[in-house]
Amino acid sequence: MSSHPTTAPGGPAAPGSQAALRVANRRRVVDAVRSLGDVTQAGIARETALAPSTVSSIVKELTACDLLAVEGEHGGRRGQRVRFSASAGFLLGVDVGHRHVEVAVADLNLTIRARRRTDLPAGHRATEVLATAREILSELRTGLGITADRVLRAGLTLPAPVDADGKGLDSRAILPHWAGLDVQATASRVLDCPVVVENDANAGAVGEHTLGAGRGVQDMAYLKVSHGVGAGLVLGGRLYRGASGAAGEIGHVTLDERAGLCRCGNRGCLETFVSSSAVLELVRPSGRQPRSVRDVVDAALAGDPGCSRVVADTGRLLGGAVAQLCNLLNPELVVLGGDLSRAGELVLAPLDESVRRYALHGGTQPRTMASELGPQAHLLGALVLARSKTPLPV
Ligand SMILES: [Zn+2]
Repeated sequence: MSSHPTTAPGGPAAPGSQAALRVANRRRVVDAVRSLGDVTQAGIARETALAPSTVSSIVKELTACDLLAVEGEHGGRRGQRVRFSASAGFLLGVDVGHRHVEVAVADLNLTIRARRRTDLPAGHRATEVLATAREILSELRTGLGITADRVLRAGLTLPAPVDADGKGLDSRAILPHWAGLDVQATASRVLDCPVVVENDANAGAVGEHTLGAGRGVQDMAYLKVSHGVGAGLVLGGRLYRGASGAAGEIGHVTLDERAGLCRCGNRGCLETFVSSSAVLELVRPSGRQPRSVRDVVDAALAGDPGCSRVVADTGRLLGGAVAQLCNLLNPELVVLGGDLSRAGELVLAPLDESVRRYALHGGTQPRTMASELGPQAHLLGALVLARSKTPLPV
């Protein structure tokens, strides 16, 4: 028999009544599990300031209706770890890149249960990509034995600025076939569930802040260096999107006005020096024909002098831009994402050196780290955002 939590255990309650208080307390418990993840009942009591006996009885009710699950008997009931039930509902993550789309289905604990990635042609069209995502979702659901109504919400990331309503900003030069499209409405229709849309670097920042290198950090930047270059900013513990969602477009700060034209229409943007295609172009004169930045990083890690030099120079240039970011925002941590981050110290040491050289001395030097979530940072950020917006029946 299905025991999915489709209705509130207590039913609707009059405001101010005992029952309404009970619903409010249940919501606090669920929100604590949502923000803290795998947590003990004692931890929930601390977070919510509810009496341990109240937490214990609410957890029992929500376990009975399959929204929560408890694990472990050590330390008595209050030491039991509480998480979402693995069958309480599912989330969809869709990461759209310049050359790929990756689709994942996760449970409410953000454990990815199935995923598939496929390459896309350059200049892809929104409708084609969404149709591909729908096809992959259908295959993944079939494989997991999940019906469409069990997918509660999707998080979708794009390599372009996205406004607060989930529309792609009208930046035709950045992602031409998505510009001006009401992505949220279109994707919700095609994927058949409510969709949260976010810029990919912003999603990477949320992913690393919640699940990766930035856990517990208040002020951090996530730097996406790939076919496009951008930053996601978490300030005061929250994603900072700016007035129209375009905060952190660090790839388009000008490094050299006399240099080559950027796809945004300006000249000499940071992106024209450090994007994947720029890195591949720099390596070519050495006789190597790498297919991807991953190949360049592998060769650098194996000691190839030309590839090592290109990786280090890219780190130095990124460091110059990071220094400006540090002077403006003073983050505690800068996380480097994208294929280049796999080079570790080969890219981070020159990046740090540039930050030391160009940022204001005293107090503005951030810690710099490679992404902990690696290629999954955007997808996991999308899932975190989807879960944060999903109303759960309490
Ligand atoms: Zn540009």
